Amino acid sequence: MELDQLWQSTLGEMEVQLSRANFTMWMKNSSLIDKKDGVFYVALPNNFAKEWVEGKYQKNILSILRARDESIRKVEFVVGGEAMFSKKQTLIPSETEMGMELEFKNDPETNLNPRYTLSSFVVGPSNELAVAAASAITEKIGKYNPLFIYGGVGLGKTHLIEAIGNEIVAKYKKKIRPKYVPSEQFTRDIVWGLRNDRIESMKKKYRDVDVLIVDDIQFIGGKEKTEEEFFHTFNALYENNKQIIISSDRPPRAIPILEERLRSRFEGGFVADIAYPEYEMRVAIIHSKLQESRRQLSDVIIDLVARRVKRNIRELEGVLKKLTFYEEQKGIAVTVKTAEGIIEKAVQNLSKHVDELVILKTVAEFYNVSIETMTSPNRRKEIVEPRQVAMYLLREISDLSYPYIGEKLGRDHTTAIHAYEKINKEINRNPALNQKILTIRDMIFKS
Ligand code: ADP
Ligand code: MG
Repeated sequence: MELDQLWQSTLGEMEVQLSRANFTMWMKNSSLIDKKDGVFYVALPNNFAKEWVEGKYQKNILSILRARDESIRKVEFVVGGEAMFSKKQTLIPSETEMGMELEFKNDPETNLNPRYTLSSFVVGPSNELAVAAASAITEKIGKYNPLFIYGGVGLGKTHLIEAIGNEIVAKYKKKIRPKYVPSEQFTRDIVWGLRNDRIESMKKKYRDVDVLIVDDIQFIGGKEKTEEEFFHTFNALYENNKQIIISSDRPPRAIPILEERLRSRFEGGFVADIAYPEYEMRVAIIHSKLQESRRQLSDVIIDLVARRVKRNIRELEGVLKKLTFYEEQKGIAVTVKTAEGIIEKAVQNLSKHVDELVILKTVAEFYNVSIETMTSPNRRKEIVEPRQVAMYLLREISDLSYPYIGEKLGRDHTTAIHAYEKINKEINRNPALNQKILTIRDMIFKS
């Protein structure tokens, strides 16, 4: 078999094994470039893809290739080859995707929105763990109980937890009954039940399910009656081996005024975070969204959007809609300059310009140190964290360059890069630090 033909058939099989979004993200721009002494060389467009495919799909690829060519012993991955230059765009919609534009309505029984599916959810390093746990649950209900997924606004929490529900419906038909509820609605139901002497029927509503999916649980913090009812509902379900899935914008430890007994229940389960997507993933998500809506944008514009809109996928979708709308209205391709204007306007509110001095002042105030100490050569331990957090926030909020940030704090640019990366990693592992940063952010934006 020719190499190309062999690879096409391998891809065909991979496509069946992976979700559509995953396949598009990782395998689409690959090619089989060489075969030597029983080793196949597969080219991928960048290091990011290489590492991912090597780590996740090497075995599968090898076994698929081996089934077609017994002489093969090994697969090696390289960056480059044709893959780098491939402009193949798979923007031809399939028949099922043609229906994507339809309005979606929540299912009255499960309250799930069928728009959210696992196959339309792009997977990458920033959400990999959460998706793996989600998929495991659809295989075995109750496997991780509760599953607690947290992450910032617009990063896909609702999409993912509803997708688990939809997957369960598709897989088990009516045998396993999920129910989705935003925590505000849970609160409303409890309040209504208490007021109208119908609390028993409200309890039944939430206990009579096999999978309870509660979105944005952080809102129940401090609402004592709701917390109490939720605690009992939780226990009733848990003891009956029912699955509980929870989302939150922060880890359990960082939800203010949450009863300790609930917090420890949450922490007793499987806690996974969704972080900000990397550039490559943002590009993949853009492709996936354009494909869903059967629209196109040039690679230059896609790159521009991916570079500019980093922190919120909902925002990313908004920008894409504006750009494609512009093109449809005008009947011409949007220029880089116009696109920049549209993007700038759309993200203005998001990264509203914050004075760097406000950031420094707020961090200093929060940690109770002076700006002078923070920017001095002082290496005392108490100063290290505020200094690193300041550098992190200068980058995050104001998008300043590393050399500039370094200079502001009397350091060089490598120290600034190190500080940013360290904090960026740490916030996903250290809920206390994450909470501090959320608080400082709030202070900055309120000032
Ligand atoms: P959150 O609940 O975390 O605020 P959502 O789940 O509402 O965020 O996601 C915001 C939008 O971004 C939704 O339209 C969702 O479909 C989309 N989205 C988020 N993450 C992904 C992803 N990994 N792949 C595809 N779409 C995503
Ligand atoms: Mg949400």
